[in-house]
Amino acid sequence: MNVAVSFLDTINHVESNPSELTSLIAELNRMKKDSEWLAKINDLHARLARALDLTSMIETFSVWLTPFLKHDLIGYNHIDRQRKYMFCSGHGPDRRGVIKVAEEAFNDSAKKHDGLCRDQNQFFVHSRSVGSLEASGRLLLVRKHRKIGTDEAEMFDNVLEVLSEPLQRALDYEDLFDQVRQDSLTGLANRRVFDEQIPPLLASARRHGFPVTLCSMDLDKFKQVNDQLGHAEGDKVLRQVALTFAKMVRSSDILVRMGGDEFLLVLPYTDLQAAHHLGQRLCKAVDQLDIFSKPEEKLGVSIGLAQWHPDLSKEEWIQKADEFLYQAKKTGRCRVCLE
Ligand code: GH3
Ligand code: MG
Repeated sequence: MNVAVSFLDTINHVESNPSELTSLIAELNRMKKDSEWLAKINDLHARLARALDLTSMIETFSVWLTPFLKHDLIGYNHIDRQRKYMFCSGHGPDRRGVIKVAEEAFNDSAKKHDGLCRDQNQFFVHSRSVGSLEASGRLLLVRKHRKIGTDEAEMFDNVLEVLSEPLQRALDYEDLFDQVRQDSLTGLANRRVFDEQIPPLLASARRHGFPVTLCSMDLDKFKQVNDQLGHAEGDKVLRQVALTFAKMVRSSDILVRMGGDEFLLVLPYTDLQAAHHLGQRLCKAVDQLDIFSKPEEKLGVSIGLAQWHPDLSKEEWIQKADEFLYQAKKTGRCRVCLE
């Protein structure tokens, strides 16, 4: 009742005073805009809550931002945590151009300051640190041809506050995701990665008909390293071998420590003959490692190879490679055996 009376009073008062009416309408418009903006921010919160990893988070942010601030790319880089993502709306040469500018902006220390900067090829970059000061990543926005206005930059900076906490959550999520897929001793992928990546790889090999070869590897005389040098030295040797293998394979190969001194290496687009060459080089590399041991107990690696064919299940394929591995052990070690 009191509210109704006070509202009527206001109306009567305002009717007799037109300039107050104008300012009241302006105030109402401002409140309407604020509440619409709040609804948009709530929408952003809700969208980010559904995004788990950094890729989908940056993509979600870019899609949400587009109606308010047109852009060609949003990039995120966290140097300490080795995470870099770019979400780019263009295609073809445009895409390559804008990615190149973003890479340069991330790399160029002169552009690591917050704020607006301009590239010589009509690309405009706005870059901001996001997250806590001691562990912040950098988010940048790139637009071709049209300068990013101060209002737009301000709006971008304001919404970064909304993005900051979900980004941190996504970084933590990705670290955990990596940890459960990594062998903690060597840093190689673990058995889980093998189990996850092999079925889709074999489905693709079946569809497109490319060769895939599996190397089953087990170190020779590794127990002697533990016995002679101690378990901690044995661990170091396992790390050294893992690094040696990792340096010699392609990034598209899947190198896994299955446990103990056993490794599996999956070679997509590689037939038995090419795998044989690589296997021999791996044997030689382990043989040449400088590890103290008696000559008859020299560390080496034995390798069994099996090329996949569409009639082989994953398990049969591993079993076949293992059979050739045991043949390599039986026939003298430090060698490659294949069908
Ligand atoms: P072979 O030539 O027949 O392969 O024999 P080997 O001496 O290499 O021994 P084998 O493959 O039968 O066993 C592997 C040994 O590796 C058994 C275990 O003592 C040791 N081992 C397993 N996991 C670890 C580890 O994480 N660290 C260390 N230091 N040793 C390990
Ligand atoms: Mg062994």
